[in-house]
Amino acid sequence: MILDVMKPSEIKKVDPVFGQLSFDDHEQVVFCNDKDTGLKAIIGIHNTVLGPALGGTRMWQYKNEWEALNDALRLSRGMTFKAAITGLNLGGGKAVIIGDAKTQKTPELMKRFGEFVHSLSGKYITAEDVGMETSDMDLVREVTPYVTGISESKGGAGNPSPITAYGVYMGMKAAAKYQFGTEHLENKKVFVQGIGHVGETLVDHLVKEGAQVVIADINEERLQAVSSKYGVDIYRGDDLYNEAMDIYAPCALGATVNDDTVYKIKAQVIAGAANNQLAVEDVHGRILQERGIVYAPDFLINAGGIINVYAELEGYGKQEIIRKTENIYNTTLEILQNANANGITTNHAALNIAKDRIATRKKENSK
Ligand code: NAD
Repeated sequence: MILDVMKPSEIKKVDPVFGQLSFDDHEQVVFCNDKDTGLKAIIGIHNTVLGPALGGTRMWQYKNEWEALNDALRLSRGMTFKAAITGLNLGGGKAVIIGDAKTQKTPELMKRFGEFVHSLSGKYITAEDVGMETSDMDLVREVTPYVTGISESKGGAGNPSPITAYGVYMGMKAAAKYQFGTEHLENKKVFVQGIGHVGETLVDHLVKEGAQVVIADINEERLQAVSSKYGVDIYRGDDLYNEAMDIYAPCALGATVNDDTVYKIKAQVIAGAANNQLAVEDVHGRILQERGIVYAPDFLINAGGIINVYAELEGYGKQEIIRKTENIYNTTLEILQNANANGITTNHAALNIAKDRIATRKKENSK
């Protein structure tokens, strides 16, 4: 139900913010509005026990503000656990800007957004996500130091997407090892859904390894460009979830494993970059487990990007970024084995480890 069509009596019953499903003890949610630039943004700060809340900014044409709020809540929560499981001293945050990145993003809007980030005094540190480029973060950097993912020429670690893709590739190989008994992806049929910044580099790794790659996207230009560059097939059907494949790699938006798709999916492994792939973690994670489909938790295998931007804060170099990202292979394998041993979903197993780390730190902080 959309808030602005609700009667006051109904609002009470639903508990519109603190009571909704996506709200999970978030510390702070900031609504940013600027009439002059047309900026409407929401910054979600989920948890700062391990450190400042770091997470990218997404610009998207949400159907309504309610959908945008949900995205900010879900994405910021995911960042908390991503940082925790990767062993980084960061909390979880994320921002969404409501609008079309192609037509409504202006330098003035980005700088105004940066001023809102600055007003939080470093409690939230931003970076790029869907709809953002490194050049946008350079603009934000003009008004606040609380930004990562800026250009290498400006002292940053550059675009995090290639490292994210490398981490996803590592996680996918670990999931393949677990499910198929071999990490080699040669001749495996892999559907990559979303061939943007991350998806394209993932396609590159897969093609080099001899996988049979099929790509899907809503952007025809991208499809043509990636298909001709890497010689991969374009999916032209109307229901990708019904297609026979070995591995499904969601690299567009979240919640593609949902009530409509979870019983159809024919892949034996799901491993991709998109955040929050499971519409309802417990429900859809459990169904995948029952169906024998190995799900590599998204917040675990797409952590390459955060490792890359964390390097800007900690001052470590490319070699360490690669080493930490390659470790995603080992962590993924351990978590898949742990889930199996304990009869829990892979998502649950990963969350347990992340939550333990936060709880331990919380205890230490309170001493
Ligand atoms: P992007 O905007 O560059 O690419 C997304 C692609 O998905 C675009 O080509 C878009 O046209 C396509 N797309 C959108 N809706 C689609 C649909 N319904 N079906 C098929 N394709 C669709 O974004 P990105 O930076 O490549 O990120 C991809 C995903 O990975 C996002 O969910 C993002 O949150 C997540 N992620 C990205 C990073 C990073 O470093 N960029 C890090 C962690 C997680």
